[in-house]
Amino acid sequence: MPIIDLHSHSRYSDGAVSIAELFYTYNKAGVEMMSLTDHDCILGLEEARTKAQKYNMLFVNGVEISTSDHDNLHFVGYNFDPQNPALLKLLENNAALRLERVKKTIKLLQENKIKIREDEVLQIAKGVSSRAHVADCLRRRRLGYMRSDIFKKYLGKGCMAYVPPMAATVKETIDTIKQAGGKCFIAHPGLVKECWDFEKWASWGLDGIEVYYPSHREAMREELLQIAKKYNLLVSGGSDFHGNIAGRVLVPGREVPQEVYDKLYSIFF
Ligand SMILES: [Zn+2]
Ligand SMILES: [Zn+2]
Repeated sequence: MPIIDLHSHSRYSDGAVSIAELFYTYNKAGVEMMSLTDHDCILGLEEARTKAQKYNMLFVNGVEISTSDHDNLHFVGYNFDPQNPALLKLLENNAALRLERVKKTIKLLQENKIKIREDEVLQIAKGVSSRAHVADCLRRRRLGYMRSDIFKKYLGKGCMAYVPPMAATVKETIDTIKQAGGKCFIAHPGLVKECWDFEKWASWGLDGIEVYYPSHREAMREELLQIAKKYNLLVSGGSDFHGNIAGRVLVPGREVPQEVYDKLYSIFF
């Protein structure tokens, strides 16, 4: 089965690797079609496209957009016009809200007597800042081994430094990706089952579902494939690769059935 990866992160958001390292790793893993989908940031796309050419990999413009509904309710946009003013505006707004959220998080940590400085966090981010960068600073202080440990102890819902999500609404997100000529997919739906509203999202123009995702087991994939069929949505796959510090998947790429690959190819190329 072909290996694709339409979900990856670089240092322009909260990934631990540069674009060069990302492509080196993806090439070694045999990924044929890929997309860079940094959080609310498209600064890496040009560099990524050049690298993809070098490695003879199919490349799709991508971005992962956060929403205000849930910490993990994210949508990925593909093949949009990266100059589209509405899209640039939404990304700029989301990046500003991310920064505000990060600053609030740092303040809560400081109020709880945890030593952390704003400038220290902000200098890690190459593009947009993220709570993951706060986690990285706490890792340096040995308050946890992986980012996921830090989120469990300090930053996650119910913890001392939890700040609710601040971002665009789902409707704004879908509308804007479509307005920029892109295709909109829901990212890792298995992580946000309590938010599912495919009927509404499809009526707003959702194009597809990220079915093949590391934490989606067979039952979840089957359920999502049924939903895709019901609402006539596309199917994609991605690893959400962040490099080796996120406490998540370490190997990029997802195997997808040939017909899924062919359909995506026909849409994007
Ligand atoms: Zn995500
Ligand atoms: Zn992601």
